Amino acid sequence: MRPWERLGLAGLVVAVLVSAGVAMFARGNGDAPARAESAPLSGATRDDVQSVLDRWAGAVRSGDTNALAALVDRSAAPGFLDAEQSRARNAAGVPFEAFGYALTDAGGTPVPDDLVAALGADEVIAPGVELRYSFAGADPVPATAPVSVVLARRGDVWTLVTDAPVAGRDVQTWRGPWDFGPVVAARAEDGESLVLGHPGDRATVEQIARGVDDAIARVTDLWGSGWSRRAVVVVAASQAEFTSLVGSEHDGANIAAVAVAGAVDRESRSASGQRIVFSPASRQRLDAGGRLVVLRHELMHAAARVDTVDGSPLWMLEGYAEYAAHRGDDTQARQIAPDLASRVADGMVPDRFPRDDDFSGSGSAAYEASWSLCAFVADTWGDARLTDLYRALAGGPRSDDDVEAVVERELDTDVETFLGQWRDWLARELG
Ligand SMILES: [Zn+2]
Repeated sequence: MRPWERLGLAGLVVAVLVSAGVAMFARGNGDAPARAESAPLSGATRDDVQSVLDRWAGAVRSGDTNALAALVDRSAAPGFLDAEQSRARNAAGVPFEAFGYALTDAGGTPVPDDLVAALGADEVIAPGVELRYSFAGADPVPATAPVSVVLARRGDVWTLVTDAPVAGRDVQTWRGPWDFGPVVAARAEDGESLVLGHPGDRATVEQIARGVDDAIARVTDLWGSGWSRRAVVVVAASQAEFTSLVGSEHDGANIAAVAVAGAVDRESRSASGQRIVFSPASRQRLDAGGRLVVLRHELMHAAARVDTVDGSPLWMLEGYAEYAAHRGDDTQARQIAPDLASRVADGMVPDRFPRDDDFSGSGSAAYEASWSLCAFVADTWGDARLTDLYRALAGGPRSDDDVEAVVERELDTDVETFLGQWRDWLARELG
């Protein structure tokens, strides 16, 4: 949607964290770690540690702040327990189906000797752990997110020391909406789709929730029913939250919303962690109607995710999503593509397909041209052929020649005729 939206294919990777713990663990990192990557935990230790992780997740989920106090080590970095207890309180309104910390098969990270000495514990470990969570009804499969955690053993009791990054390992604990304040949740009418946000955005959260059913119906009408037909939407309240949810390559000041996914499994045709995230800047840049247009655009990306490979021609991905966003509205073409309309009025007509480069910078001309291409194809050949064209072009990167060949084949035309007809359509619709 416009220059302030991008198709986001990022996983859930970035965390923003500043705490005493960071300094503590970063200390002395001018030297390479003294020990090699440690082996996976042995059976008995693994069971004990998993048991602590289970109690940790259970306490967060149930809002049991006393249980958290009992799990956190007496020498833990200041603020760790507070943050855990805040998360537990903040997440009280979130309808989790699953929320668990799981040991992964990856070996842990050696813990710096000075930390081990400072804690005075019998054993200190930083095992490979991930968060697996899902929202009841809304997530077809659980999402996973990285967790960096240090545990200490005193006698036979294991405790949590920190979830801050550990020197020598490039893992930061992922932060969810519940790490950024109390969460309000609203269900869509389908009883499955979910919109999350914070109390200050409650009206926006509820407005989006009321629009989700219609957005799903519209996207399904164009794309077909071969997708989950449910949505998880998050209204981010701060830049830090937005960055945590969508990745640092998306500048929230210039983007209204991003659709992200975790892992895509093409065999089972499922994608985990599909989220539509509205940026804090969208508060100023979108009115209620504009918010629903953006919702439909992002939902189209989500619906097509398992059939869309990274690097496919952006004009196809963005043009199709934008076409889906406006389809069925009586919005004039001139309102959907005002910059393109003024170019056409000045006699500047496109003579080629938009290239991915054209989307950098402000990119509005590229978005509008891409929308117009898709609207022109739908007008001339129908929605089904447009969708076939999307599927034919969404399989990965294509050269310009390749794109032209696919268009010629799918629409049974030649590219010169096609471009000429597109220019005629622009003159007619925008002139
Ligand atoms: Zn998009």
